[in-house]
Amino acid sequence: MILDFTKDTFMEEYANKMVELYGVSVEEAHITEKYLVLGEVIREYISISWKESKEANRMYQKKEVYYFSMEFLMGRLFTSNLMNLGIYDAVKDGLEAYGIDINMLEELESDAGLGNGGLGRLAACFLDSIASTHYIGHGNCIRYEYGFFKQLINDNKQVEVPDLWLKLRNVWEIKKPKHTVKVCYGGTVRQSINENGKVSVELEDPFVVNAVPYDVPIVGYDTKLTNTLRLWSAEPAEESLVQGHEDYIQQVRAICNSLYPDDSTQEGKMLRLTQQYFFVSAGLHTIIRNHLKNHPNLDSLPEHVAIQLNDTHPVLAIPELMRLLLDDYQYEWVDAWNIVTKTMAYTNHTVLSEALERWPMEYIRQLLPRVYMIIEEIDRRWMYDLSHTHSHPELVQACRILRDGQVHMANLAIVGSMSVNGVAALHSKILIEDVFRDFYQVFPEKFNNKTNGITHRRWLMYSNPELTHLLDETIGTTWKLQPSDLTKLNAYVDDADVQENFLRVKKRRKEILAKYIKDVCNVEVDVNSIFDVQAKRLHAYKRQLMNVLHIMHLYNKLKEDKDFTMYPRTFIFAAKAAPSYVFAKKVIELINNLAQKVNNDPDVSRYMKVVFIPNYGVSIAEILMNAADVSEQISTAGKEASGTGNMKFMMNGAITLGTMDGANVEIVERVGREYAEIFGLTSEEVNHLKFEHSYDVWQIYHNDPSIKKVMEQLLDVNYFDNGSTYREIYDEVLNKNDEYLVLKDFWSYHEAQRNIDTRYANRSAWAKMCLVNIANSGYFSSDRTIKEYANDIWHIETY
Ligand SMILES: *Cc1c(COP(=O)(O)O)cnc(C)c1O
Repeated sequence: MILDFTKDTFMEEYANKMVELYGVSVEEAHITEKYLVLGEVIREYISISWKESKEANRMYQKKEVYYFSMEFLMGRLFTSNLMNLGIYDAVKDGLEAYGIDINMLEELESDAGLGNGGLGRLAACFLDSIASTHYIGHGNCIRYEYGFFKQLINDNKQVEVPDLWLKLRNVWEIKKPKHTVKVCYGGTVRQSINENGKVSVELEDPFVVNAVPYDVPIVGYDTKLTNTLRLWSAEPAEESLVQGHEDYIQQVRAICNSLYPDDSTQEGKMLRLTQQYFFVSAGLHTIIRNHLKNHPNLDSLPEHVAIQLNDTHPVLAIPELMRLLLDDYQYEWVDAWNIVTKTMAYTNHTVLSEALERWPMEYIRQLLPRVYMIIEEIDRRWMYDLSHTHSHPELVQACRILRDGQVHMANLAIVGSMSVNGVAALHSKILIEDVFRDFYQVFPEKFNNKTNGITHRRWLMYSNPELTHLLDETIGTTWKLQPSDLTKLNAYVDDADVQENFLRVKKRRKEILAKYIKDVCNVEVDVNSIFDVQAKRLHAYKRQLMNVLHIMHLYNKLKEDKDFTMYPRTFIFAAKAAPSYVFAKKVIELINNLAQKVNNDPDVSRYMKVVFIPNYGVSIAEILMNAADVSEQISTAGKEASGTGNMKFMMNGAITLGTMDGANVEIVERVGREYAEIFGLTSEEVNHLKFEHSYDVWQIYHNDPSIKKVMEQLLDVNYFDNGSTYREIYDEVLNKNDEYLVLKDFWSYHEAQRNIDTRYANRSAWAKMCLVNIANSGYFSSDRTIKEYANDIWHIETY
């Protein structure tokens, strides 16, 4: 084990470990052995400060936060860990001395895709920021055997392939069998009166599963503090094995088999519910065990632990903690409820009604009979309280947890938490004025906003070393620890040299992306064209379709109007669609078909190229965001809770082409409206339009020949070479009265795109605009977000 990490100590340890593990010299080792041994050496080095952190935590008893999330979209950890530890150069040089290129080994790490998109990536950024801002905080999640599916494009269509991320082993994790806990499902609830005259509750014949933790160290930047991401894996339990359930092992294996590739609807119902309870129950067991090592009882739990629930997926933590307190620790209801509601905090991530989780009561009753009883009692008492304080029957009805045969998880979350937060100012406003307005009447003090953020370490310092270097030279290095110091760049936005240097950096990043596009998509793109990027999950409300229809319109103009010109543009898309989301998959097919048509048409391809980069994930985002000139953030106003992609682009000097939605509003607030390209209806205008019922998509369709033409091309068998048509897309827009207002905002979007062309042509003004964006992006570091959570919700102090 290395105590003093230098190039030499590293080289020695590396060679020793190679012999110890594989019995070969470094020179003879296979590349996978070189990778695995490197991981081993680094993790052992981390384990020193990990152990010290745990000891210090036990000694000082500071309050800790646990971030419960069904998803942690971590991406690769190599670069981030080595950089945060400050040993990247020592490792790089040591490997080089052995003739090994560090980049080759970095590439062998799989992208830990334990998440779908924004929500999971937020959780990952938060872990990095919690450690880097010196707070004690841990993640709690599932160790999925297969992460988010790998996307291939075959025949222009999305094909899903399992993600074998554990193929080479996860070098960061360490299995901790001694911390195994039992999670119980099903069974029969037996109540009896015990010797103290109290009701005692037991579960008879449950289906028992062992939850075995795998711990991943979370190292912060420039600190010895090391936190833990605990990933739970399900294993068969002896007591259930002997009962001889036929397919018991199969069922246990299914629990952690895979991540649900859909963050907006509830699928696979029972299994997903099984997963939710699994990691929540296991996580709570650990928290209680740790607490009782240092305290006589659980009365003081809220003074030592805060639990943040990332969306409603972990909300069973509320009744489960009640169950543990009531049944295992003999608390009275009122005391238990007091503990629970001072410990839990809930973050809402969506206003889309189809994504607000609701479970059929019957499912929970069957799978978790005791937990269900507790939910019923929570609802009963809640209704009792409400009807005595707020008699308006509509309000009381709207706030019910159990309604229409369903358990409303968000309602349970609000009732059982000390804090409810949205993830951007506009989103939080919509929560209190619309989605949860009734709850806001009852608990105004619970509601608050925490605008999302991204770790500027991964998304700027490590993925864009060229820009980092430029910033260091221009404004010094304080911004690394104090990202708000990026505002120092405001003094240089008019400086011609800084502008030139920025444009050079951007070009370099575009070259790196262009090479990737050539290698993967076999498309040549011009780095002098505008790189216009829309990279995010494919969803109707995110309106990738508006972007595509607009490209089809530009194509028509270039073909039919000899005088029409545009600044050369490369339209880049990256997006995964949920496997069952037919419309989204059709849009992906449309993009790929259009790319083929455009790129092979010599009249047009001088002006534009269309590229679809497959398998969007964290590693691709790391080379995509920083190469963009234009950041497409074009959701229907009021639908995108926050967005975090928008922040990554901004921090790397791309201009936001967007609607006044989510955190775009706050981006514009910070840079000023003239340093972004904003278009489209506002959320108030959208509400008004829907309220009035005045919008008729057919009116646009019949009166606007350009739009009609594009829509008809979707149905034309002669439009694409392979004869594909897109009736589903046509119907979706026209027969649902353009639910997401794609055609309504079309011309406003077009105009914004024309403005981009004009503005890009003025290189100095463009560079200034990018620099203003970078200078004002420090606010969107998740370090700022975490400090707000820590001060306002968790009430935790730094390490
Ligand atoms: C940042 C990020 C997201 C979130 O993107 P939005 O544009 O905010 O939806 C999704 N997936 C990955 C891989 C990301 O890095």
